Amino acid sequence: MSKLIRGIRGFRDISPDETFRHSYAEDRTRKHFGRFGYREVRLPLVESTELFSRGIGEATDIVEKEMYTFPDRNGASLTLRPEGTASAVRAYLEGGWKIQGGVTKIFYTGPMFRYERPQKGRYRQFYQIGLEAIGGSGPMVDVEVIDLLHLLFVELGLQDVKILVNSLGCQVCRPPFREDLVNFIKNSAGDLCSNCVRRTETNPMRVLDCKVPSCKEVLEASPVILEYLCPECEDHFSRVNSGLTGLNVPYEVDPRIVRGLDYYNRTAFEAVCGGLGAQNAVAAGGRYDGLAREIGGDVPGIGFAIGLERLTHVMDWDSIASPVVDYYIAAATDTARIHVMILADALRGKGYSVETDLEDRSLKAQLRIANRTGTSQVLLIGDDELKAGTLQVKDFSTGDQETVDRESFLKKLKGKEK
Ligand code: ATP
Ligand code: MG
Repeated sequence: MSKLIRGIRGFRDISPDETFRHSYAEDRTRKHFGRFGYREVRLPLVESTELFSRGIGEATDIVEKEMYTFPDRNGASLTLRPEGTASAVRAYLEGGWKIQGGVTKIFYTGPMFRYERPQKGRYRQFYQIGLEAIGGSGPMVDVEVIDLLHLLFVELGLQDVKILVNSLGCQVCRPPFREDLVNFIKNSAGDLCSNCVRRTETNPMRVLDCKVPSCKEVLEASPVILEYLCPECEDHFSRVNSGLTGLNVPYEVDPRIVRGLDYYNRTAFEAVCGGLGAQNAVAAGGRYDGLAREIGGDVPGIGFAIGLERLTHVMDWDSIASPVVDYYIAAATDTARIHVMILADALRGKGYSVETDLEDRSLKAQLRIANRTGTSQVLLIGDDELKAGTLQVKDFSTGDQETVDRESFLKKLKGKEK
């Protein structure tokens, strides 16, 4: 036998059990977003590198060191998408998805790629559910987006989620804040990690997000963006706050929430959850009114992305039924085998999931396997049943077994929702 070829570090195989969890969370989310008027889109996994270097910003973690970039056969530089917002805005501009006088509401789910150090809750291929409201600049758009995210957590039964909200200001009020922040960082440089010091000039806002405990402590005393907001940003932020309060969304203002992406302005938010360790952000989002201008358009927008691995990790799966086999049909003799398959197809046609033996196993072995599938009932066909047009219904929980007419058994079954 040749050597087992292994997968690549940080690229995980998602087992049937975990895929069930992903799909379950995605399906519920899909329906929830639909109730707010969002429609699903599919976007390419590969884009021109320029889309991200311009749309995300050169001085961000993602563009600096996390992108999977490679030359196409004709020499063009391509990148596996590290996030979905830049693609969504590009698609909106390119595809003419503008809704006159309204907000274009879209969402997507799928893999993202970032060259990061793999660890629990952090992978090189990971899955996101992303949502974008493009074309609205008012605070009520932000309120609805955050309200929707909160209600999704309620819908999915998540306990212990906190929504943290901040304002990042705008082109007018951020520069003076940034200047004071840079001075603060320079004065504290001796107590900060090398990453923070390096980011002082390139992306000082990101320093606020440093995860090193000693940096966190120093940064407690840093300037606070909320004290620098211009009147327009302040008004926007206070209307977001009163909207969220009016809708009873439990949230906290956290002036340390920043985004690693340069194009974000005004409202920024994060949902954090207990039980995730250091990687505790389940979702992150914000307003990105400046993004479109970087890539050749001009439209405001706000959105968020949920990390699907982290979301499914904190959901309570004990309270959610996993899929089970509805019926196992056993063949008592070889002549019955094809009739078992015919009956199985008839039940599947009514929406049930059915398993049968495909390996010529003995009846005893079939019953053992049936028991293991977790089904409560096994149907059995042998030569007598074939002659009489009947079948045996055996109830695993009680051990009862009865003979019933095959036609009337099928007729009586209501069918299961498909
Ligand atoms: P972090 O601070 O954890 O690196 P980020 O700011 O890079 O997060 P975003 O780009 O805002 O994250 O992505 C939104 C969400 O996607 C995160 O809150 C997280 O749940 C998830 N996510 C981001 N990177 C990864 C990864 N490498 N593996 C798994 N999930 C991830
Ligand atoms: Mg990151």
